[in-house]
Amino acid sequence: MEKETRRADVVIVGGGASGLAAAIELGMKAPGLDVLVIEKMPEPGRKIRATGSGRCNISNTGAAGFSRIMEFFREIGLVTRTYENGLVYPYSESAADVTALLTERAASLGVRFACGEELMTVKYLPASLAFDGAPEGRNIFMLESVIKDRDGLRSIRTHALYVILAMGGKAGPTFGTIGDGFRIARNLGHSIVTPVPALTGIECDEWDERSEPCGITLGGTRSTGVVSLFKDPDEVFGEGTKVFEEAGEIQFTKYGLSGICIFNMTRHMRYDRRAGESLDEFLVRVDLFPDGDIAEYIRDRQKGSFADTPAGEILRTVLKEPLADYVIASADNGPDEDGRILADRPLSSLSDEEVLAIADHVHALEFHPLRIRGWNDAQVTMGGVSLDEINEATSESLLIKGLYITGELADRDYQCGGYNLSNAWLTGLAAADDIVQ
Ligand SMILES: Cc1cc2nc3c(=O)[nH]c(=O)nc-3n(C[C@H](O)[C@H](O)[C@H](O)COP(=O)(O)OP(=O)(O)OC[C@H]3O[C@@H](n4cnc5c(N)ncnc54)[C@H](O)[C@@H]3O)c2cc1C
Repeated sequence: MEKETRRADVVIVGGGASGLAAAIELGMKAPGLDVLVIEKMPEPGRKIRATGSGRCNISNTGAAGFSRIMEFFREIGLVTRTYENGLVYPYSESAADVTALLTERAASLGVRFACGEELMTVKYLPASLAFDGAPEGRNIFMLESVIKDRDGLRSIRTHALYVILAMGGKAGPTFGTIGDGFRIARNLGHSIVTPVPALTGIECDEWDERSEPCGITLGGTRSTGVVSLFKDPDEVFGEGTKVFEEAGEIQFTKYGLSGICIFNMTRHMRYDRRAGESLDEFLVRVDLFPDGDIAEYIRDRQKGSFADTPAGEILRTVLKEPLADYVIASADNGPDEDGRILADRPLSSLSDEEVLAIADHVHALEFHPLRIRGWNDAQVTMGGVSLDEINEATSESLLIKGLYITGELADRDYQCGGYNLSNAWLTGLAAADDIVQ
């Protein structure tokens, strides 16, 4: 069977956030260029549609290149709203609208889309070898892709002057990102910093069914507090080993901990298994009552009208019931001489040591990470194409002229709050602007 061949001035591989930004920018700034987007999913922007829980947190006033990103969105006619905390959303708060706008805008500018087509390999040849008189230093790229349809497998070869690899990382594989870009970049000679999932939940030892008390009872509970992460190979976890701290909502799930502050924490949980490191080096402490001193709160109530109130009940005045029960059970050192557990003991009977033990558990409740949730749950990839091999200002590969590496495929990841999409838009725009020049 004869192979289908075609050519384009610029091939963008990946119709996600950075690919679409690059495509539109090229369409706007260089209308004469023939731009082709190869996207393996049936339509572009599947992941964008899922961002911000369907609301698309497109940027953040604190993100690098923020004004450039906003200029781009103004140019394409997207109205945005900015919240006090700096988070920027489309005014409609609809990720589907953003995706539709980007796709329609690109198509109306003459960008061609080849959806349902998967890139398999990229090779290149110095142009001087391809034809006489070709400009020095320019490469000709040859891309091999496949389409699977009812008639079987079709192979397509595309020749291009510029290639933008905008293939994302490995997070959220259901949106088309399974790490193909890493293989392609590696085959082109780039180094890959080992990709690991980030912005995701963690599973903890305390959820083991044999644990007493067992974290499973906390499933479905949410609480605001301060999360701290400690890293210490000696597993002492003193104050000096704190590597991360953030206030926010902690979600206790059926497997462990989740929520924005936990997601952000996972960016600091990188470890090298080959170097003998493990998650045992990490400990999470949660302050569930950061606004006060729970020991003082209890002592104040040990005399007077609360003296006979069971300790467990008092804790429920500041913590949700499952959390209060878990905390006091964790602080319990065994029944007293009358066989009563700590939760049932009247407040007045608690020794100061017992009050301090409760306070320890309220202000520094400990969780031992067992596993960082995998790619299916992760919002972003930590690792990727080494930044030492990419021109930061233009997204161009420092190894191969005319090849650009944008978005999450490169070794850049950020906290929650619109920073990761910002990186995708900005690096896509940078690649397009460089090609136009
Ligand atoms: C559930 C979820 C919610 C998120 N919410 C936010 C948020 O609100 N704000 C924020 O800033 N960030 C958010 N992120 C992160 C953000 O979506 C990504 O960082 C961003 O989309 C990365 O852009 P990208 O262009 O690099 O890659 P992607 O947007 O992932 O696009 C890559 C594209 O390449 C295609 N592709 C891959 N391999 C091939 C191949 N072999 N051939 C052809 N095409 C291929 C894929 O199908 C995909 O469409 C979220 C992520 C997830 C998973």
